Amino acid sequence: MGFNQLIRSIPEQVRFNFLLVVSLSAIAAVAQGFSVGLLLPVLAFMDNETLPQGKVWGMLGSTFDFLRLSVNLPNLLIVTLVVTVLAQLLIYIQGRAAIRLREGYAAQMREATFRSLVEADVTYLPKAGVGESVNVLTMEIYQAASAFHAAIQFTALLTVVAAYVALLVLISWQMSLVGMAMVIVSSLLVQYQIRRARGLGRLLVDLRGRIQQFTMERLEGIRLVKLKAMEEDEQRSFGDLTGDLQHLNTRRDTGRAQIRLIMEPTLFAAGLLVLYLSFEVLGVSLVQLAVFLYVLVRLAPLAMSLNQFTHLISAGVGSLENIHRRISESAEETTVASGTRAFQAPERGIFLLNVSRAYAPNHPVLQHVTFTIPKTGLTAIVGPSGAGKSTLLDLLVRLADPDEGQILVDDVDLKEFDLTSLRRNIGYVSQDVMFFSGPIMANLKYGHQNATEADVQEAARRTNAHQFITALPSGYDTMMGYRGVNLSGGEGQRLALAWALVGNPSILLLDEVTKNQDAESARLIRETIRDIARERPVVVSTHDHALIQMADKVVVLEGGKVVQVGRPKQLGGWEDLHTQFPEFEKGDEYPYVRR
Ligand code: ADP
Repeated sequence: MGFNQLIRSIPEQVRFNFLLVVSLSAIAAVAQGFSVGLLLPVLAFMDNETLPQGKVWGMLGSTFDFLRLSVNLPNLLIVTLVVTVLAQLLIYIQGRAAIRLREGYAAQMREATFRSLVEADVTYLPKAGVGESVNVLTMEIYQAASAFHAAIQFTALLTVVAAYVALLVLISWQMSLVGMAMVIVSSLLVQYQIRRARGLGRLLVDLRGRIQQFTMERLEGIRLVKLKAMEEDEQRSFGDLTGDLQHLNTRRDTGRAQIRLIMEPTLFAAGLLVLYLSFEVLGVSLVQLAVFLYVLVRLAPLAMSLNQFTHLISAGVGSLENIHRRISESAEETTVASGTRAFQAPERGIFLLNVSRAYAPNHPVLQHVTFTIPKTGLTAIVGPSGAGKSTLLDLLVRLADPDEGQILVDDVDLKEFDLTSLRRNIGYVSQDVMFFSGPIMANLKYGHQNATEADVQEAARRTNAHQFITALPSGYDTMMGYRGVNLSGGEGQRLALAWALVGNPSILLLDEVTKNQDAESARLIRETIRDIARERPVVVSTHDHALIQMADKVVVLEGGKVVQVGRPKQLGGWEDLHTQFPEFEKGDEYPYVRR
């Protein structure tokens, strides 16, 4: 059953605490057993002024002797009370430790899941669904932690039940046998509910994921919804989803109530049967019977809780499976690994040697791409949409790695560099401008720990962003929305470019940065790019003819292949170029021996 899975899922850090909690439960259980068991000598003493016969009660007498207490009713009552208080204190400590353990477990799971999502390749999350991943991080981990808590309490309860059962056997093994048989029968009666809970748990996991994904997509895409007046349609789809959720949740919790409905009367009947048999057949004394019944009455709700915990565990197993699936899937898609070398700016250039890349088998996006990016100057990657330009830039910053071939900085494979060092040295502005909610200043400093406010303002001036930032009511302290929604497309791009410049990168990669710009901003950005390219390699993917004309080198990509390399003046309109010149330009050959 799911119990084993849950126990195995305990992170190493909290494993010790788990054992501690379970041991505490065992001690608390024994104390509880004693506190209830002491009622027997108390009642026996009231009946005939002596302790009952037997080894265990003999030990009680010795303990009284040892403590120099005389065996009388007040002392017996006081000892019973002290043991009861101690037992409850232990239960409190155990309960507190169990709660801390549950929260520790949830925190560890959340961190592990978040880490696996963040470390996976950039292609993973869009595929897996951001909404579904958020659901795993929040709801599913909460469910799994609740199931884990139920598993702890289940284990704890088992020890209490064992202690009570031992007590019952001590009083009368024949009566215990009858009682036990009835408990087993009543547990068997609710197995269907428990199995169904597991099935429902899995359905719920899937549904909660879909609701989260649906909600995030519709809320983020609210413009699309409104543009075609789809509010009512979306409301209906959402209503269907929440209706399903309502239905499944109701079924799951009704299952829990049914367990109670079945077990409560069955256990009561068990009590009555035991009463009848012991009185009519076994001839048990009234004192024994009273204590036996008292223990039984205390045991009944525990047995019921055991089954309800099993129900909770079953319902949480689906969540746990989902979390583990997510973690292992993202681990499988974590292919970009860090090297160890500190990054060094190229002294000769960046060399792409026979680089191929496919997102899916038999669908190559880049095929045998070979060209050089000079150590300084502007390299423009041009070609029709879908040619593989953005993918090429992604490979240069190692958001993905080539399936075949190599990218080298001088004679060092890109993969040998420490990823942090590599990425902190590369400025990359992709087409999809993205900011976090927070002040503009904080966003521009993101990933540039050592940048000063002056550095930020200087970078913003160079990209024509300073002007519009200072015109905002709070200037650089203006809060930006998630995804920079309160900026125009062009403003967002200028900010992103400023952000890339703040880090004073050794290599600058720009994807369509002049798109969406007014003529004046585009001109300024082109000048800035030209200026920056004097000291370092700048690679732009662009359709901007003015920018292409400024380039020192143009690489024409078509269908993932390099069809031409040259200086802008040597190239005709790239749109109708079909000649293949995949070779290095003269004097531009790869100067190192291939390894
Ligand atoms: P460009 O920048 O030249 O427009 P891209 O590099 O964005 O070209 O895309 C090249 C091809 O790769 C396109 O056909 C695109 O559909 C595909 N592609 C890009 N990213 C992914 C991805 N994450 N998964 C699958 N296919 C992708």
